Amino acid sequence: MTNEKIILHLDMDSFYASVEVRDNPALSGLPVVVGADPMKGSGRGVVSTCSYEARAYGIHSAMPIYQAYHLCPHAVFIRPNMESYARVSSMIMQILKGIAGEIEQVSIDEAYLDLTSDLSYKLAAEHATGIKQAIRDKVGLTCSIGIAPSRIYAKMASEQQKPDGLTIIHPSDLLSFLAPLPVGSIPGIGKKSAQILMNAQIQTIGDISRCDIQALQDVFGTHAVRLFQIACGLDREGLRETGKRKSLSYEHTFLKDSVSSEEILGFMHEMVLSLCRELEERNIYSRTIGIRIRYTGFISRTRSVTLMQPTREVRIIEQAIDGLFAEMWDMTPVRLIGVRLSGLVHPDPVQRSLSDF
Ligand SMILES: [Mg+2]
Repeated sequence: MTNEKIILHLDMDSFYASVEVRDNPALSGLPVVVGADPMKGSGRGVVSTCSYEARAYGIHSAMPIYQAYHLCPHAVFIRPNMESYARVSSMIMQILKGIAGEIEQVSIDEAYLDLTSDLSYKLAAEHATGIKQAIRDKVGLTCSIGIAPSRIYAKMASEQQKPDGLTIIHPSDLLSFLAPLPVGSIPGIGKKSAQILMNAQIQTIGDISRCDIQALQDVFGTHAVRLFQIACGLDREGLRETGKRKSLSYEHTFLKDSVSSEEILGFMHEMVLSLCRELEERNIYSRTIGIRIRYTGFISRTRSVTLMQPTREVRIIEQAIDGLFAEMWDMTPVRLIGVRLSGLVHPDPVQRSLSDF
């Protein structure tokens, strides 16, 4: 028995690519890249996910698709099928909900579970093995799991042994786990911050824990204290409240500014599919549909519309977005787009929409 929190982080392995391989076994063992059309090396857009075979060629997510094409022209390039991924995602989340009382879904293929009521790390580990087995049996995919005394350590743990990994960091092993890891393995520390730390001879998380906090404050400002706590093994953050969300949103940054309304709306419609799936999972509806467009130079504009009746119908939300976009876009190159659903409400038994029956 322990007083420590037991937090589990689950991350599906190369999720989109794995779903594609599962649905088309002929792709098994091949480098598979899910993302934009490479157009024989002149395509725009980025890699969403790629298989581990593709990673061996140096391809990774968020890489420009033309670059991926040049690294491995014979890879299998597939356009994302968000509807299929969202369907698989909701099966996985259903499995998790059946296993643990408290769950926080953070993306289409990632979730945190609070297993503190398991009372021991040993039992939590058995639980994790069961989850991996259930996902393999019922969904046909592998995942990686980390278990640790806070959400950030659990996330770092799940990264350790991908794919199909299970990494358990008992509180008494936390410091020895953290000390040798490179600073960039802390979620939220980007390449730039990592470089600044490296330049100051701070290479590992252990180095951060021995650091003068003043020096950290110069680089990280108000985040320095939290970073220091994380490095010293003192963080104990559990699941974050998800039940009282005021809005749901997605954003996408174009690698190269886009002037194609087809491309921009294509991304927005993909976001709508994922958002509608989330509305369904939470059994809520949205009344206010908003979009955000950021142009080069960080000029951001938002616009929203409030509907007569709350909805979670893909078609209705897409129509609203198409209308807002047509009103506000003047062909200026677009850097970032976002879709935001707010005015979230639980179903009114009188005003149910047709798709509920
Ligand atoms: Mg993943």
